[in-house]
Amino acid sequence: MTRVLVVEDDPQLVRALKINLQARKFEVVEAGDGATALRLAAARTPDAILLDLGLPDMDGVEVIRGVRGRSHVPILVLSARHTSEEKIRALDAGADDYVTKPFSMDELLARLRAATRRREAPASPAGIPGIATDEFTIDLAARKVVRGERTVRLTPTEWHLLELLIARPGHLVSQRRLLLEVWGPAYSEHTNYLRVYMAQLRRKLEANPSRPRYLITEPGMGYRFEP
Ligand code: CA
Repeated sequence: MTRVLVVEDDPQLVRALKINLQARKFEVVEAGDGATALRLAAARTPDAILLDLGLPDMDGVEVIRGVRGRSHVPILVLSARHTSEEKIRALDAGADDYVTKPFSMDELLARLRAATRRREAPASPAGIPGIATDEFTIDLAARKVVRGERTVRLTPTEWHLLELLIARPGHLVSQRRLLLEVWGPAYSEHTNYLRVYMAQLRRKLEANPSRPRYLITEPGMGYRFEP
């Protein structure tokens, strides 16, 4: 049975989550504040954490940092905040994904299943020699991309971006993280660089670059590689 730690101070939402999760055979552990969440995350070793960012005693991002100090458990953020900056802070602190309130229960459950699945079958960047999709094949060791019969030439910057994205298939990688890792701290606000380079990557890899299948934009947030 998958054990989910629900960290939320809104009793109505807790009740709704509990009913829905238990109906789908999840075991639910509840925490109404950050301190309880940190204690239960250690004591009950949940398989996933649903985390509200606005908690009565501390910022949810602090909970993420506290949990990440010891555990790789998937953390799905429930955010009432609409600024992408807050969500990016949560993702940078180590959250795996987020849903914005109000969310549909179906969407939440789909994200939760995806997060726990990724945990069961981690596709580690170091361990895998490459990735094959219906459209292209990436050989990381040889630093080679083949599309159909042809080798695709990528610039070092394009490679770096692509490596960061395919390292965690299905995961959102924040704009800030990509800019920091590829261009450095002085460029962390230069989101236009990302738009330009992602457009180039799509032209080289996607059958229909204006409607990408593999290199997905999350507006205002970042990008994800969908295998
Ligand atoms: Ca709250």
